[in-house]
Amino acid sequence: MKAARLVDGELAIQDLPVPEPQLEEALIKITASGVCHSDLHLARGDWHGVPRTGSIGHEGIGIVEALGPGAERFVDVGDRVILGLGGAGGGYWCGACKYCLGGSPRHCAQSKPIMGTFAEYFTVWAPSLVVIPGNLSDREAPLACGGLTAYGAVKKLVKHGIVPGSPVAVIGAAGGLGHYAVQLAGAFGYDVVGVDIGAERLDFVKSLGAHMAVDAGDALEVVQQELGGVEASLVFSAKMAGFRLGFDLLAPRGLFVGVGLPATSEGNIEFNPFALFMKDATIIYSAVGTVQDMRELVRLAAEGRVNSHVSRTGPLSELGAIFDDLEASRYLGRAVLTDLSH
Ligand SMILES: [Zn+2]
Ligand SMILES: [Zn+2]
Repeated sequence: MKAARLVDGELAIQDLPVPEPQLEEALIKITASGVCHSDLHLARGDWHGVPRTGSIGHEGIGIVEALGPGAERFVDVGDRVILGLGGAGGGYWCGACKYCLGGSPRHCAQSKPIMGTFAEYFTVWAPSLVVIPGNLSDREAPLACGGLTAYGAVKKLVKHGIVPGSPVAVIGAAGGLGHYAVQLAGAFGYDVVGVDIGAERLDFVKSLGAHMAVDAGDALEVVQQELGGVEASLVFSAKMAGFRLGFDLLAPRGLFVGVGLPATSEGNIEFNPFALFMKDATIIYSAVGTVQDMRELVRLAAEGRVNSHVSRTGPLSELGAIFDDLEASRYLGRAVLTDLSH
């Protein structure tokens, strides 16, 4: 089978044997795989200390082809499934530790990632699979990480007492994660202030149902004037300037939700304690989501309340070109590999 791997930081398409499903694993024939910004960060070595050799890709839709022992308790051969869970922690969790029982299995000491969906076949721990309905297209593969991560962040609004009807900023609103957050926060009843850069991207944000779409350069002035600040900022930006803007847009007692993972070279976000005192902000981070979040998100997508905006597709052999396009912001929303066999 064909599979994309990183070898010492270089992208390579290799011929590998089809893997055998082990205990509680399913063998999936991948029919579509989304290209996440994290894959680009891994390929470019943007995150200090992360290995430069290994399988990549962590957003997939496919068909269950074979089952290892015990996997029949979770899925059947022929099921159409979505897999990925944001890459982090979806490959295994123990189910019994304080993190698993507390709803964040990603922190389980035994957790394993899901990495390697840029391949014709992939074996995965079956309890992390979510069976999807027939009306959900293969182009929804990016729900597995981009969509799930945005959904997890929007759910934090509810958890932290931000009531529907409140103005909420989405920083990086036209991007691969932000475009989901605009739709989902709208579906939850929030007034979305979508922040991005350039007329084309702002038109796109408007088309997603945002209450307002403002350029990052004007956002502080416009938001202050029209709203006196937002109740929460969801920051999907890959730039530290976006993190700063998200904080600055907050009204007093606002909620800051960091989601993006800028390159290590972007440096750190700094908060002046006096600014914190004045604003009395709550600062949290939101990472990916659980298999239960994924089931909820699949239901919302099947009902048409959130959809992946896919404007770049191609076979596995075009992955390198897609990385270049993503790096140069040459397409809106998400890219999906629609043929993993060449
Ligand atoms: Zn991802
Ligand atoms: Zn555990």
